[in-house]
Amino acid sequence: VSALVAALRAIVGAEHAQPPARRYLTDATQAEGRVGSAEAVVLPADAAEVAAVVGWCYANDVAITPRGGGSGFSGGAVPDGGIALLLERLTRVRSFDPLLWRIEVEAGLPTASLHRLARENGLHFPPDPGAAEQSQIGGNIATNAGGPHAFKYGVTGHWVTGLEAVLAPGEIFRVGGPVRKDVAGYDLRGLLVGSEGTLGIVTAAWLRLVPRPEAAFPLVAFYPDTQAGCDAIETVLGSGVQAAAIEYLDARALAIAGRAYPGGIPAGARFMLLAEVDGERREAERARAALDEALHEGALAVAEADPDRVWRWRDGVSIAVTAHRGGKISDDIAVPLDRLAEAIEGVAAIGARHGVEAASWGHAGDGNIHASFLCDPAGDEAGRARAAAAELFPLAVELGGTISAEHGIGTAKRPHLALQYPEATLRLMRAVKAVFDPKGLLNPGKKV
Ligand SMILES: Cc1cc2nc3c(=O)[nH]c(=O)nc-3n(C[C@H](O)[C@H](O)[C@H](O)COP(=O)(O)OP(=O)(O)OC[C@H]3O[C@@H](n4cnc5c(N)ncnc54)[C@H](O)[C@@H]3O)c2cc1C
Repeated sequence: VSALVAALRAIVGAEHAQPPARRYLTDATQAEGRVGSAEAVVLPADAAEVAAVVGWCYANDVAITPRGGGSGFSGGAVPDGGIALLLERLTRVRSFDPLLWRIEVEAGLPTASLHRLARENGLHFPPDPGAAEQSQIGGNIATNAGGPHAFKYGVTGHWVTGLEAVLAPGEIFRVGGPVRKDVAGYDLRGLLVGSEGTLGIVTAAWLRLVPRPEAAFPLVAFYPDTQAGCDAIETVLGSGVQAAAIEYLDARALAIAGRAYPGGIPAGARFMLLAEVDGERREAERARAALDEALHEGALAVAEADPDRVWRWRDGVSIAVTAHRGGKISDDIAVPLDRLAEAIEGVAAIGARHGVEAASWGHAGDGNIHASFLCDPAGDEAGRARAAAAELFPLAVELGGTISAEHGIGTAKRPHLALQYPEATLRLMRAVKAVFDPKGLLNPGKKV
């Protein structure tokens, strides 16, 4: 083995520092052909070993790419030399106080395990990004992940009250804790949330929980076009009913994923909403009636849906659309809610201009669009799909939105950050990075 692997084995043990297997060199952008390289894959057992590994790498000028579940959509966990640092052995629950609605977990705990643990104790951890069996809490924090229910409950960062992270040159750092409010000093917790492994390596987090909602009622509604569906979203908000989630599928996504939909789809439907209300049973029933009425405006049909079946189907939309032509180039933008219809129609128009099929769906209540350009990854379509996807970013910025709502910047979107921010803002971000990581070894080439 190389001198680097031998040195790291002295810290984590022989079986936990290895030459890299290919599966650790990609993330969910693999379908776009993104594969990295690394000299070693290292799996520390705990925060102390993470600190020792970072310390050794910092002293020896070796780049470190932290990796959670590898479900990211921006190439953030794809290493470019150096080591891939895996958090998957850090899965301990350090403390859990169900009666106080709080938990402290290590970063490598799978998101779905946290959901199950909360549920078994009558509690709820609301952030629900779609790859929950694969993603880890640390990865969710590093990307500030969202998901359908972020509409009511907010994104991951909203639930983080404290963090433990390893910072350069190899120190364990803590900020916050089991306190629900904290404005002492600058918000370093907030800075680390969403920093995509470029400022430090999250090793544990204090999280807030809430009592599990007693009931949840999803409704589906179908519209003849995008404008009618987007008008209905504004009617829902205007009615004052607090939906927990408002998801949409455009005409193309509905045509493809609709084949597996566990219910009827009316003829002429070219836009679908999936909205849910939750809470204490009687309260949720009242909200369901109000939601139903609001969704009816301009609708071809509104129907109740079985929660398990409809959300399982919703989780499969991305896979169904990818399978349609064997691949897709996707990006996740967000716009102010009153520009949503223009953005969705803009995505379809971009696809038509480039001669590729376009489909979009996403977290409509948050104005968050997952736009996909479908292609056979081996064919010349892939180049056209890539060119189409690049036009999403100016579209988002022109409509007053953002080039990334929840998937992060990684390497995939880094060249486009300058569209959204003036040079002075980028300079400030680079200065923050330099304070945390003076040698530029923490996830180099990502984010800023
Ligand atoms: C089918 C599917 C559906 C998805 N749906 C959603 C969705 O609804 N909402 C959403 O927001 N995302 C969604 N995603 C994207 C993805 O699941 C999230 O971005 C998730 O938070 C990534 O977590 P991960 O553990 O897999 O991180 P990884 O992919 O391993 O890493 C992501 C980034 O975080 C960094 N990182 C990972 N762990 C740490 C750590 N402990 N400390 C510091 N940095 C770290 C990595 O370096 C990288 O930059 C989906 C992905 C798939 C495949």
